Amino acid sequence: MPATTPPSTAAPAFDPEAIRADFPALDQTVYDDAPLVYLDNAATSQKPQVVIDRMNAYYARENSNVHRGVHALSQGASEAYEQARETLARFIHAPDPDTVVWTKGTTDGLNLIASSFGPTVVDEGDEILLTEMEHHANIVPWQMLAERTGASIRVLPITDTGELRLDRLDDLLSEQTALVAISHVSNALGTVNPIDAIIDAAHAQGVPVVVDGAQSAPHRPVDVQAMDADFFVFSGHKMFGPTGIGVMYGKRKHLEAMPPYQGGGDMIDRVSFEGTTYDDIPHKFEAGTPNISGAIALGTAAEYILNVGRDEMHAYESDLLDYATRRLEAIEGLRLIGTAEEKTSVLSFVLDDVHPYDAGTFLDRLGIAVRTGNHCTEPLMDRLGLPGTIRASLAGYNTRADVDALVEGIRKTQDLFG
Ligand code: PLP
Repeated sequence: MPATTPPSTAAPAFDPEAIRADFPALDQTVYDDAPLVYLDNAATSQKPQVVIDRMNAYYARENSNVHRGVHALSQGASEAYEQARETLARFIHAPDPDTVVWTKGTTDGLNLIASSFGPTVVDEGDEILLTEMEHHANIVPWQMLAERTGASIRVLPITDTGELRLDRLDDLLSEQTALVAISHVSNALGTVNPIDAIIDAAHAQGVPVVVDGAQSAPHRPVDVQAMDADFFVFSGHKMFGPTGIGVMYGKRKHLEAMPPYQGGGDMIDRVSFEGTTYDDIPHKFEAGTPNISGAIALGTAAEYILNVGRDEMHAYESDLLDYATRRLEAIEGLRLIGTAEEKTSVLSFVLDDVHPYDAGTFLDRLGIAVRTGNHCTEPLMDRLGLPGTIRASLAGYNTRADVDALVEGIRKTQDLFG
C-alpha cells in the first residue's frame, strides 16, 4: 500500500503578530513619538479588544443586577455571570464551577482565605509556612492571622539563584505547621516553584496548601486537581481581563466548612432577627452586588487564552524568555536576578552604577515600560541585599523586537549613567 500522509493534528502555529493586533493599547506612541514597548505584564497585562467590547456590551445593553430580578435583563446578566464562572472553572480545571468564587483579585482571595479558613486550622502555637520569595499579598494576611491566633510565621529560604531550598522543607514542615502558603511563580524572579512536590510533602503531614497563582495562571496551563491545591487564587487583570475581578478556587470540603467572609445580600438563604442561614457555595462568599461586568469579561479573557492555545502561548513565551535571557546575559555590567532552572516570563536585573529607579525612568522616556523597585517583595530584596531591581515581564503579545528595543534601551542607559 502506498504511504499516505496522516492528516495534520497540529494546532495552528502561534502568531504573536496576530495576537498583538488584538490589543489596541500596544499600538501607540508615548512622549516624543516613542513607540510603546510594554514589558510590565507581571504588574498588569493589556486587554484584547474582545474583552473591552464585552465590558462595553454589558454596560450598553445588558446592565442589570444578578440573582435578584425576574426580568429579562437580570436573567441575562445572571446567566452570563454564571457562564463566566464555568469558563474559569474550565480554565483551571476545577472539578465544578461551585468551587470557583469571584473575588476582587489575588489579594482579596488571600485575605478571604486567611480570614475565613485561617482560624479553622490555625491555633495558638501553630506555624504558618511561607517562602522567602512571597509577594506582600501572600505575607501580610498570614501575619495578621498569626497575630489574631497566637501562631507564628516560618519561612522557607531560597538559594542565591532564586530557587526554594527544598532541602530545608522537612525541617520546616513540622508537627506545628498548620498551613502552607506559597506562590506558584515568583513575580520578582520568575521562578516556577515545584508546587507538586511541596503540596505532596505538606499533604503527607495533613497540612493544607494555599497557592498564589497570580503569576502562573496568565502564563501556563493550570490544573488545580492534578496539583491537588487546597486553594488557588489569581487576578483577572494579569491575564488580559479587567481589574477588580479575580478567582479563589477552593476544595469543596473546605469551602463548605468555612464560615462566610462578609455578610449581606446575595450570600444568605434566609434572614430573620433571630438568626440567618447562608446560601450554598460559591454564593456564601459573594456578599453584595458583585463586579458583574468584570466577571463576564474575565470569562471572555479566559476564552481568548484558551482559543489562542495555552500550551502554544506558554511555549512561545518560554522561547522568548530564553532569547531575552541570552541577550541580557551578554550585556556587560548587567546582572540577572533570578536564574532558576525553571522560569516564566520575568527578567529581573540590576545594572552596575545605575539605580534601578533611574534606569526605569530613562527607559520610560524611550517608550519602554518596565517596573522598578521591590515589586512588593521587600523580604526577598532584603535576602538578596538589593534596594530593588528593574523588571521586564513578558506576555504572549511581546516579540523579539520588544526584547531588542529593551537591550538597546539598556545600552543607552549605561551610556548616559556610566
Ligand atoms: N501575588 C503575586 C505573586 C503577584 O504578582 C501579585 C501582583 O503583582 C499579587 C499577589 C497581588 O495581586 P493583586 O494586586 O491583583 O491582588
